[in-house]
Amino acid sequence: MNEVCQKCGLPKDLCICGDIAKETQKIKIRVINRRFGKNVTIVSGFDKNTDVKELWKKMKSKLACGGTIRDNEIELQGNHKEKVKQILKNEGFKEELIDA
Ligand SMILES: [Zn+2]
Repeated sequence: MNEVCQKCGLPKDLCICGDIAKETQKIKIRVINRRFGKNVTIVSGFDKNTDVKELWKKMKSKLACGGTIRDNEIELQGNHKEKVKQILKNEGFKEELIDA
């Protein structure tokens, strides 16, 4: 049995709730400086319809970096602002709603 979306009742592979959600989400990308001068890229603003874990996995493999998820925010080691923006665009997020 296919998994069914809790929101629209369609099977997950037909459901576009996630896509609609992506188009309206305001995502924020910021780079902060952690201890020992290490940069960390934080991606925040995802709502509960977004599979943050899936995005996080994609980003980690595309950027070949370490990272974690904390409070529904993606943390990536290093400064990846521009590349993260590109990945989010490819995933269907609206460029004008990405604050980077
Ligand atoms: Zn749905």
